[in-house]
Amino acid sequence: MHDIVLIPGDGIGPEITKSVTTIFDEAGADINWIEHIAGLTAQEELGNPLPDETIEAIEKHRIALKGPLTTPVGAGFRSVNVAMRKKFALYSNIRPAKTLPHIHSRFEDVDLVMFRENTEGLYIGKEQWVEEDSHAESIAVVTRDASEKVVRAAFEYAKNKGRDKVTLVHKANILKYTCGLFMEVGEEIAKDYPDIEYEDLIVDNMAMQMVMRPEQFDVIVTTNLFGDILSDLASGLVGGLGLTGAANIGDDAAMFEAVHGSAPDIAGQNKANPIAFLLSGLMLLDHIDENKLADRIRQAVYYTLEDKSVCTPDIGGSGTTETFTEAVCNNL
Ligand code: NAD
Repeated sequence: MHDIVLIPGDGIGPEITKSVTTIFDEAGADINWIEHIAGLTAQEELGNPLPDETIEAIEKHRIALKGPLTTPVGAGFRSVNVAMRKKFALYSNIRPAKTLPHIHSRFEDVDLVMFRENTEGLYIGKEQWVEEDSHAESIAVVTRDASEKVVRAAFEYAKNKGRDKVTLVHKANILKYTCGLFMEVGEEIAKDYPDIEYEDLIVDNMAMQMVMRPEQFDVIVTTNLFGDILSDLASGLVGGLGLTGAANIGDDAAMFEAVHGSAPDIAGQNKANPIAFLLSGLMLLDHIDENKLADRIRQAVYYTLEDKSVCTPDIGGSGTTETFTEAVCNNL
């Protein structure tokens, strides 16, 4: 039995969480969900968007499935999500983008996995006015330690999943120190994996290559800002953010979440598409070595996508969150 912290989240969070737990139960997942709150729900109930109990539960059980959180305005956090990634040093943000059957997109045969460094780069929040309203500056931090961790995580993933190539993305021709260091680390670590092809690409070229011929990429690793942008680009290649799962993984904890937000405009209407959150849940199953179960559910989802009468409206269906969930359960 696996103890996993479950944070249903805000807005559509509870609906898509119910969908995922129903499907996991039906598939026979051996999971003990330990439910805690965060975000707006926690702010309203406990006056704190990131309660100590929630943090302690993640510290204890080390794995969490987290629904989308609304960041309460003026609550003292830039974002609860960012705070959690920092708190648990979740240095790898992992986002697979894979062509799904029966989902319209411009490309076929896309199957790539983006590793984004999740804790530093330009996202450390060191910004200031040099001269009010006319001159601002922002500092990017790249450390050897964090770079080594995320690059090694990308190579280890490639090795364990039988993938052939790692592409490191940078802008070291201009950002000679920060990106230069990241690239240097990539070259060093690549030597430890002689069976995996290694290449590095400058980010502007990468953006063009991903749109021209995305099928050439396999595992990609890059710094925080480039990863933020390119991972959304990658989602766009396969049908959008509603179909993309994500994992945030560190040495001591792992948090799985969908990449979309709490969608307050459709909350409570039985219209939310649970696929992205479900795919995050399947990444969680892979993480706890329940690969066979994950594959079984994945196949049921792919099969269900063919029947648009049960799929949610955002992917051209005429069904609901509940009809989709029921159909996946029937197709297991
Ligand atoms: P959003 O992703 O919540 O919604 C954008 C649009 O996509 C909306 O029209 C919404 O209805 C639709 N959409 C999103 N997920 C969907 C789903 N599963 N099925 C069907 N349609 C879906 O983005 P937003 O409106 O900019 O943000 C709303 C709140 O979510 C904000 O408070 C924001 O801070 C938060 N947010 C949280 C996360 C997270 O927890 N990881 C990520 C992004 C935004």
